[in-house]
Amino acid sequence: MIRSFIEVKPESHFPIQNLPYGVFRDNENKNPRIGVAIGDYVLDLSVLDEFGFFDETDVSGKRVFHQSSLNKFMQAGKKAWKEVRAVIQHLLREDVSILRDNQSLCNKVLKQQKDIELLMPVEIKNYTDFYASKEHASNVGTIFRGKENALMPNWVHLPVGYHGRASSVVISGTDIYRPQGQTNPTGSNKPIFGPCKQLDFELEVGYFIGTGNELGMPIPVEEAEDHIFGLVLVNDWSARDIQSWEYQPLGPFLSKNFATSISPWVVPLEALKPFRVNGPVQDPEPLPYLRTTNLGSFDIHLEVFLKSENMEKPQLITSSNYKYLYWSMEQQIAHHTITGCNLQTGDLMATGTISGPTKESRGCLLELTWRGKEPIQLDNGEQRVWIEDGDEVIMTGWCQGDGYRVGFGEVRGKVLPSREIKVLTHSKNSTTS
Ligand code: CA
Repeated sequence: MIRSFIEVKPESHFPIQNLPYGVFRDNENKNPRIGVAIGDYVLDLSVLDEFGFFDETDVSGKRVFHQSSLNKFMQAGKKAWKEVRAVIQHLLREDVSILRDNQSLCNKVLKQQKDIELLMPVEIKNYTDFYASKEHASNVGTIFRGKENALMPNWVHLPVGYHGRASSVVISGTDIYRPQGQTNPTGSNKPIFGPCKQLDFELEVGYFIGTGNELGMPIPVEEAEDHIFGLVLVNDWSARDIQSWEYQPLGPFLSKNFATSISPWVVPLEALKPFRVNGPVQDPEPLPYLRTTNLGSFDIHLEVFLKSENMEKPQLITSSNYKYLYWSMEQQIAHHTITGCNLQTGDLMATGTISGPTKESRGCLLELTWRGKEPIQLDNGEQRVWIEDGDEVIMTGWCQGDGYRVGFGEVRGKVLPSREIKVLTHSKNSTTS
């Protein structure tokens, strides 16, 4: 096992095996630039670039690390990602002296993570959200349509998805305003307007498209992974009451477009490869364009915590795993592009809620509380059916290696009350009597 000269505790998410990319700035230098997390530090790639450490790679002279997003580096392609990662990993090794024994260089390129501000890592062009967990789709289907009709007939034949909203994807730590909208509560004979009463989180993993495809030219399933730059955690906030009124016939719209939170460190696909596992057996066999013999899944442990305003520390409310997902990222990409749809550098794809086979591994409150029937008991005596104002939702995840973890850090977001807006309070149709 390789080690870094920088101390990395076994439970740290950022050992030399990970090396996730992020965009940061600090008080000394307000310019956003690219860094890599190592232990409690961030390695400033823009400074390393100025010292010529990447001169032998495909990004030489392109100033890809002096950017406010990863897009330019992502666009450079798989060969460049591999070369850059090799340079960084080499420089950080405990048995390599170049950086280790050069204190003045270390001072220039290493910052404590507590002293920096992490920014949105990618300029997101498009956002697509899938629905790839069979357990999640089955649970939701059972709640809304009964056990006999849990899965729609198409579900086992294609990775269901929809085109989401890129503009409202936000970085971890961004407050979320409770959405308002139309709902049609049970027993009501007409819709009403007001703050969402059934606000939910969705535990998902997202992946960024590094290099896209030409319009009209599908990406074959066997080549799909070459287009993936890296992965993040995603909380796809959802307004269930708005969703159940609006979703037919075109699917979710406002119930999903107000906020999607992502973790700030983008974990390279390369770092996850030691944790490859088989996904679930696919029966019926998918159509040829979705067929692959690759080990398409990854063993990524996932956790969700909730902290209300009255709680001193967050409480674990569910644990799941990426490996439960039925449809793989490569199948999602092959399906997305089979029409000729062009993916672009900076597109965010998300898996959909990741639920496991047990009650304790359900990936959203809709399932955990079975649409409100089984409230969650919090340690301080409070109960939760849906997310309340002041609640903070924190997600984390990692792959467990032998004595180290390849982790994602966390994605957190706190829910604030809806903002007030002006609406007509009297009816245009009302008659005075
Ligand atoms: Ca979702």
